[in-house]
Amino acid sequence: MDPPKIFVERTLCILKPDAVHKADEIEDIILRSGFTILQKRRVQLTPEQASDFYVEHYGKLFFPSLVAYMSSGPIIAMVLAKEKAISYWRELIGPTNTIKARQTHPDCLRSIYGTDDQRNGMHGSDSFQSAEREIRFFFPDTITEPIGMGQAARDYLAKAVNPTLLKGLTQLSKQKPLDPVVWLADWLLENNPNKPKVKDQGIV
Ligand code: AMP
Repeated sequence: MDPPKIFVERTLCILKPDAVHKADEIEDIILRSGFTILQKRRVQLTPEQASDFYVEHYGKLFFPSLVAYMSSGPIIAMVLAKEKAISYWRELIGPTNTIKARQTHPDCLRSIYGTDDQRNGMHGSDSFQSAEREIRFFFPDTITEPIGMGQAARDYLAKAVNPTLLKGLTQLSKQKPLDPVVWLADWLLENNPNKPKVKDQGIV
């Protein structure tokens, strides 16, 4: 029987201006909840950037004050990874409105770190498409294709990693260095097949 397939997703988390001073505490909860923090940036958005980020809410009554709030101080944007990260992170932060969250989900993060329906502590992407867009917004160089798992990961390792690793391990067993881990690490750096090699032209 095939092992169960696990799909690691990425989601965008933002600690909003009022929650930034609690960043260490919140990051600790994030890690203890099984997320990996892949990327992190502390930034202060201009009102134009905040409008772009929340463009789907353009025209709503709360849009101007949301933009003013989100550009009022530094925020922390993080890419979180985990199986079903998008829904799990939203479940952990709880309902948008902090006041209602305190009644219905007293243990959720917004209930603890939020203030009202706007200053609600943190943001979480609401779908795979939003996560892709939002991650690219803060981390434009990120590659957001799904992380291979299961057979796809085994195929990738067999093609791209194992041949080099096998050569390195063969050399390691021949050389028997005193510190095999450091030796292998150096060997892999030196023999990385993706590293361009400059041929010594010699002096003619
Ligand atoms: P969402 O895209 O659902 O995360 O909504 C964006 C953000 O807009 C929320 O996280 C709140 O900060 C803010 N927001 C949503 N609804 C309201 C509202 N009714 N009044 C004030 N702010 C709101």
